Amino acid sequence: MNANQDPFSLDGECALITGGGSGIGLAIARCMVEAGARVVLAGRREALLAEAVKTLGGAAGYVVHDVTRLEEAPHLVRQAENAAGAPVSILVNNAGIHLKKPAVETTEADFQAILTTHLCAAHALNRAVLPGMLKRNHGSILFIGSMASIFGIPLLTAYSAAKSGMLGMVRSLATEASGQGVRVNAIAPGWIETPMMRQALDGDPARRDKILSRTPAKTFGRPDDIGQAAVYLSSPAASFVTGVCLPVDGGASIGF
Ligand code: NDP
Repeated sequence: MNANQDPFSLDGECALITGGGSGIGLAIARCMVEAGARVVLAGRREALLAEAVKTLGGAAGYVVHDVTRLEEAPHLVRQAENAAGAPVSILVNNAGIHLKKPAVETTEADFQAILTTHLCAAHALNRAVLPGMLKRNHGSILFIGSMASIFGIPLLTAYSAAKSGMLGMVRSLATEASGQGVRVNAIAPGWIETPMMRQALDGDPARRDKILSRTPAKTFGRPDDIGQAAVYLSSPAASFVTGVCLPVDGGASIGF
């Protein structure tokens, strides 16, 4: 970085964002484009992705992809690089599904589906992008964790296992890759206004009240709050930040 360069700029970077067609992923894409990056969104619903890309302008593209098809991760990376005309230098493991169920009702299939979407898919994609990043000595891998990565929330056994597991992956991978120019971090969003949060809280006013009562900022977050944090963690401003989980939560994780 030269002295005149904005340390928060993502000029020249190419970000692959899973689940980029909606909610937090789309906000990350918007903020990264504003910071100068090219972005490629991946998800299962083509109409959603096409609509999202229209709002992002010429620096954005998409690939229809189901992250649970683990063996297709290298193909996704190749398609993303073709769409962007550049190697992927930022990977955002954001795609996710929610499951709110008592532990005794959570079947093995439920549990496996959550682990596959959040953890196994992230591992497959990391493996697909890492060789190139390590060769170029440059890259940022971000995981989107959760408050369930940090503390116990009832009815979320499978989701909590996945989101807590992410933090172990972040720490381990950071120790392997950071010496070769690839930083690995997570963001733990608090409760952010998205379709997933509405699904999780609709019909559960008690949980909604509990969240707000323990959030010092007294409000839910906006997707852009996570988007800007993702820009920071992927930018030269964070060049000495690796292996961390940054809560972006209005203080929920330290509230009483
Ligand atoms: P959304 O439901 O809006 O977004 C989830 C995205 O993931 C969708 O775009 C969906 O696209 C994609 N997705 C799901 N499954 C797959 C799959 N198998 N393959 C590819 N894409 C997939 O929710 P959010 O934006 O809220 O969630 C984004 C991330 O943030 C998730 O990891 C979630 O756990 C996390 N999070 C959210 C919080 C919140 O309060 N909203 C709080 C903490 C964490 P499609 O269905 O088209 O594939």
